[in-house]
Amino acid sequence: MKISNRRIRLAKLGYVHYRTSKEYKKLLKNSKINNVTVKKENGKYYAIVNVVTEVEELKKTGENIGIDLGLKTLVTLFNTQEIANLDLSQEEAMIKKYQKKLSRKKYMSKNYQKTLKKYHKWVDRKNNKIKNTYHHISKKIVENYDIISMEDLNIKGMFQNKKWSHKLQQISLYTLLQMIKYKAEWYGKKFIQIDRYYPSSKKCRHCGKINHELKLHMRKWKCPNCNKINHRDINASINILNEGIRIISSE
Ligand SMILES: [Zn+2]
Repeated sequence: MKISNRRIRLAKLGYVHYRTSKEYKKLLKNSKINNVTVKKENGKYYAIVNVVTEVEELKKTGENIGIDLGLKTLVTLFNTQEIANLDLSQEEAMIKKYQKKLSRKKYMSKNYQKTLKKYHKWVDRKNNKIKNTYHHISKKIVENYDIISMEDLNIKGMFQNKKWSHKLQQISLYTLLQMIKYKAEWYGKKFIQIDRYYPSSKKCRHCGKINHELKLHMRKWKCPNCNKINHRDINASINILNEGIRIISSE
């Protein structure tokens, strides 16, 4: 396998020009390359390079976190406006525009192919914007916390919030979760996912009693057993963290 600063040698094709970021060029230069696969997506060819490299661990912060994964929680917890500000309206408008144009052209005619290229460009832009946001957020989480305990995705609960549901449809929280997971591994942090049936909201974090009377609209509740007041989201995230730590220590 041969990769120079500008060209990559592929089986069958020989040397081909490629483009990537400075950061990745440096990585390619300094790592052992295992293999390369090529895929075509959106009218473009991508070489996926599997490398062996040393990743420097991030320093420990002494802070741990339990995450009840909803979009609102993510935004407030990390004080990141990234998701809230993720504006894809231009990309979506252009994608729609070119989709319409494509439908009116003769399939695979010259004009069709020209329009297809423009269409692909905007699809790429949209996807890249989302991906960059994910990378940014996942890195921030891993930088700030040593143990990251997360609840399994509760898609149904998340879509009940109308204000956020449109943005949630645009992004895939599953992808974000996978990024947090592998980055935690890379950077020497601990990621743990707890069972989706674990009663993180209904359990009182003070005495452990399960409150079966808890309804979704109740943002605050008084524990019938110990009389302490629980703030719904805070109670849930502390329970998620404690459960994560319990699992880690029993391993
Ligand atoms: Zn209690």
